[in-house]
Amino acid sequence: MPADRLIWDNHACMPLRTDAQFLPELHRIRQAGVSVIVLNVMFDNIMPWHEGMKVLSFMRHWVLERKESFLLIDSVADIDEAKRSNRLGIAFDIEGMKALDGNVSMVKTYRDLGVKWMLIAYNRNNKAGGGCMDDDAGLSTFGRDVIREMERVGMGLCCSHTGERTTLEAIEWSRNPVMLTHSNPRALVDHARCIRDNVMVACAAKGGTIGITGYGSFLQNGDSSAENYFKHVDYAVQLIGPEHVTLASDFVFDPEELASFLANPLLGAQRSVPSMFDPAGFPDLANYMLRAGYSDSDVGSIMGGNLYRLAQQVWK
Ligand SMILES: [Zn+2]
Repeated sequence: MPADRLIWDNHACMPLRTDAQFLPELHRIRQAGVSVIVLNVMFDNIMPWHEGMKVLSFMRHWVLERKESFLLIDSVADIDEAKRSNRLGIAFDIEGMKALDGNVSMVKTYRDLGVKWMLIAYNRNNKAGGGCMDDDAGLSTFGRDVIREMERVGMGLCCSHTGERTTLEAIEWSRNPVMLTHSNPRALVDHARCIRDNVMVACAAKGGTIGITGYGSFLQNGDSSAENYFKHVDYAVQLIGPEHVTLASDFVFDPEELASFLANPLLGAQRSVPSMFDPAGFPDLANYMLRAGYSDSDVGSIMGGNLYRLAQQVWK
């Protein structure tokens, strides 16, 4: 694999706590050659936004104390710098607009603290729009206002976990390309969290990206091996082209915390902890693409180049 290839994991999950029990695992992700990892700091229906703010502050502090290994990502230039200095660039995401507590002005606050993307609704409806496991009434006026503010301040919009109607309306309303950062093709796994071909096509038609997740519940047979993960990447590539496909391990570092989250009926996902693709395996995934005949340039786009391009368009 070319040493200069950018590997960008667009979604992974550290425990949403103010302790550093699992954060040192980021050293091993860096050593595996990953250049950017985006960690979630809060999501709808699990904790109030101010608890998430504590998690965000704690993670930022932890990273800033370890500048020799890690770099907080604020701009596209920071990604170049992380790559150049062989550090792991770390950014944050928020799963659901309940984090705004009804205030559009909170978007810029999160953006200024390193939150690079936010999704609309986590499985259940909220003030902004519909969730993928709820009766989706579409994108609300509040949701439209939030999207305009995200465009103004330069934060990425994601529609994973969001209902299909809201997703299609958001893609149409948005002036920027939209991401579905961690959503797998429903043609392969028929689960409410997976997305139909029409959504993938509409997203790509406006320059957006579909991120394939390594979370076992959304992979055929629950198999999170690089070989099986690649099959889902390939489905998306054949449908919408390699320039619109990206990666998100969705790896949960603390399986015990995941087990307790899954017991929450509001999340409505599944009962047992699935197997998950470890982000240290991304170089392996690249090899599967190359063996399948993908060009070196297409592999580079999928591994990180497409998200780099989208960041150039969206971030400010
Ligand atoms: Zn998620």
